[in-house]
Parts: sequence; structure tokens; C-alpha cells
Amino acid sequence: MKSLTFKGGVHPPENKELTSAYAIEEAMPSTKTVVIPITQGGAPNVPCVSVGNSVAKGQIIADGTGAFSVPVHASIAGIVKKIEPHLVTGNTEALCIVIEADGTDRTSYLPPLDPYSCEKAAAIERVRQCGIVGMGGAAFPAHVKLNVPADKTVDCVIANAAECEPYLTIDERSLLEETDKIVDGLAISMHLTGAKRGIIAIEDNKAYAVEHIEKVIAKTGKSDISVQLLKTKYPQGGEKMLVKAVLGREIPSGKLPADAGCVIQNAGTLIAMSDAFRLGKPLVDRALTISGGCCETPKNLRVPLGTLIGDLIPEVIKLKPGVKKIISGGPMMGFSMMNAQFPVQKNTSGVLFLSEKEVSLAAETPCIGCGNCVDVCSCRLTPVMMMRSVKADNLEAAIKYGLLDCNECGTCAYVCPAKVRLVQYFRLGKTKHREIMAKKAADGKKGADK
Ligand code: SF4
Ligand code: SF4
Repeated sequence: MKSLTFKGGVHPPENKELTSAYAIEEAMPSTKTVVIPITQGGAPNVPCVSVGNSVAKGQIIADGTGAFSVPVHASIAGIVKKIEPHLVTGNTEALCIVIEADGTDRTSYLPPLDPYSCEKAAAIERVRQCGIVGMGGAAFPAHVKLNVPADKTVDCVIANAAECEPYLTIDERSLLEETDKIVDGLAISMHLTGAKRGIIAIEDNKAYAVEHIEKVIAKTGKSDISVQLLKTKYPQGGEKMLVKAVLGREIPSGKLPADAGCVIQNAGTLIAMSDAFRLGKPLVDRALTISGGCCETPKNLRVPLGTLIGDLIPEVIKLKPGVKKIISGGPMMGFSMMNAQFPVQKNTSGVLFLSEKEVSLAAETPCIGCGNCVDVCSCRLTPVMMMRSVKADNLEAAIKYGLLDCNECGTCAYVCPAKVRLVQYFRLGKTKHREIMAKKAADGKKGADK
């Protein structure tokens, strides 16, 4: 099978051998306590429990009313101890519900639902009720993605198991251990979107898994599902790059994959979808990779959502001295964290403990105008000009050079000889842009109310 790809990108050291052979292990936080952010993708939620309430695993504890709202569920049975702000990925604080286990395994799951015989609206609502969002990183509400607008046609669903971020192997393990659920979730997604084709896309560093996946597909008799190999290259798993490589189509600027006739679902999201229909199980836990040169016990884990990474140390995660950086996510797109006391969320695909030799601690120096960043940007943007415009507080120019089309993949920063923190400038520029848009919207509303 020929490996497809896109133009641009880089090939950082993969470091996947640290964990790729380790099967996913179940683990619990040593404190028997979880800290669950009330919003984990979609529109902002509000808590629907109070301190002192007893909750069952799978019970909704926070929800919203908007079309983009996705509920959050208790990931263990126990007592709500606190509702207070806590450190979360991104080094910000978010309102969290703290639950202490009561030693029971009481669950509040939904009854199973046949996605093929129920009304489409009921199936879409099941995906929402079960709190499913994109688990590859973006945390986009899955029910919104699957509810294709009437004016769009989707002919293909792509199961994104490219897993191009170095170190991370959780999609790889899921492909081997939960293949039937990935195929099931993909088939359900095809049914709901009306797509005629399903493609499981994996990088060719996982080519050994193709035979196994194809055998599972053959058992289901689903001839409309196939496997496609992609060249091992970063950021191959980015939506724009994936669609270009697999289908040869471009996602238009500012648009979604549905505007290119497809829907993309992460492998973990497809497993959660299968569980939502077959078991009535909401998204209450997830599998993730724990790795890095300072991790004595690199592994793949499944933990309840809201597990503080620090509460897995040292019983489950043993560290070596000399941790220079803790990253929530992969090294290219993840967030550098101030400490390990942050919770696993629906989109936490991994946590890395990196040594000095694995991280670039070099100070930023002035841009030398080499153009390397422009050469590697697979979105065909002009990173150097975006950065200079943000620094000059000229957001209009930054947007003209592509700021809003940047997926923050970090490829440009990776090749920058001056170590310019390009992605940090892009995040700053986007935040400023969002603030300006929110102010404009608020001013417009005030004017309309007068
Ligand atoms: S400009 Fe954005 S999309 Fe392009 S390489 Fe840099 S981070 Fe990635
Ligand atoms: S790669 Fe770095 S030094 Fe080179 S042009 Fe881009 S920002 Fe400047």
C-alpha cells in the first residue's frame, strides 16, 4: 500500500518505542479523589450538583443549554466535596467539581441504543448526552460534527489514528486492543452522516497493524471501510493535512472538514461512541500515554476523568530526577505545565516528563529572516510575518498573513534557528483577536438594547 502525504512538515524523533509495546493498564488516583473541570469542550457549562451531594459514576454533574453544550459526568461514585477553581491544562484555572470516592461502583449509565433503528435525532442526542467530544486534542463536540447541515454532503468519515505527535502511542494501542470498537464507532458515524466510505488513516510507522485491522473489518463484513497508510511526518494528523493526503481535497480557509465533504473522528472518540450506544456508557474515563526521558515507568493508562496526574505519582508513575518540563499533550502541540497537579480531561492524550536533553531551553534570539518557518508550514502561511505583526500589535496584518488559519502545530517553531517562540505569539494574537470580537459583539448588543 502506498503511503500518502502532504507538502511541508518535519520529522522529529518519534520516541514511540518507549511505550508502544505496553498494553493499556487501568489505574486510579491514590487519593481516591477526582477533580473534574465543568467544561471540557463545547459551550460553557454550569454545575448541576452541590457540595455534599452523592453522585453515581456516569451521572451528569455539569451541563449547559446551548446547541454546542456537552455535559460532563461523574467519573467515580462518591460525594461532591468541593466546587472550586483548580489548575488545568494551559496553566489556567477552571471551575472543577471535586468528588471523593465512596468505595462503591454505583453507575448511572443509559440503556443501550441501536443507532441503526432509532431516529437520527435520538442518536445525535445520545452522543451529546454521553458527553463525547474530540479526544485527539480539539475537544470539538461530536454531536455537532455528526449532525451534518442539510446544505452539505459528507461522503467519507476518516478515523484519525495518524498520531503524528512524538512519544504518544495511545491511538496505536487502541488500534490493537479496541479495534472492534473503532470499526463500530466508524460505522455508526458513517450511518449518522450519510457517508458511503470509512477510512482508518494511520502513519506507516504502524504499518504492522494493518493486517490485524483489516481482519477485524472483514469479520464485520463492512466492505465500505478500509485502511489507508500515511507517510510518517509531522503534522500528518492535522485535519487539513489529513484531508489533503487521504482525499486530495482542501478544507477552505476558516471552514470545517464537512466543507470538504468529510468528517474526521479520533480513534478514542470512536471507541467512546461505540460505548455510548452499546453500553449506554458516558465518557467517564480515557486512555493516555505517560512518557518522556524522566519517566522511569513509561506506559499507557486508562484513568477516570479528573484524575490529577500528581495523584498517580509515585504509585503508578515513577519519575527519575531531573524533570525539566512537564507537558500535557505531545511535545509539539502540548502545554508546558507548572506542576503535575492538573486533571486528565477528555482531550488529554498524554503527559510527558522531559529531561534537559529532550527540551530546548535555549533563549529566544532575534529572528534572522531565514525563511525556514515559511518553508515547512503545511498550511502555507507566513509564520515570520504573523509573528512580527503580533509583536507590533498589528492584528489586521497578522490575520492577513494567516493567523486565524494557523492550527498551532508548532512545526515552524521546531525549525526556527533563533528559537523564536512562534506559537506563543500566535496564541497571544488569537486571544487578543477573540477579546476584540467579544467586545464588538457586546457593544453591538448594548446598542441594540438601547
Ligand atoms: S504557522 Fe501555524 S500552522 Fe504554520 S507551521 Fe506554524 S504553527 Fe503550524
Ligand atoms: S525560522 Fe525563525 S529566524 Fe527564520 S524567519 Fe522564521 S522566525 Fe525568523
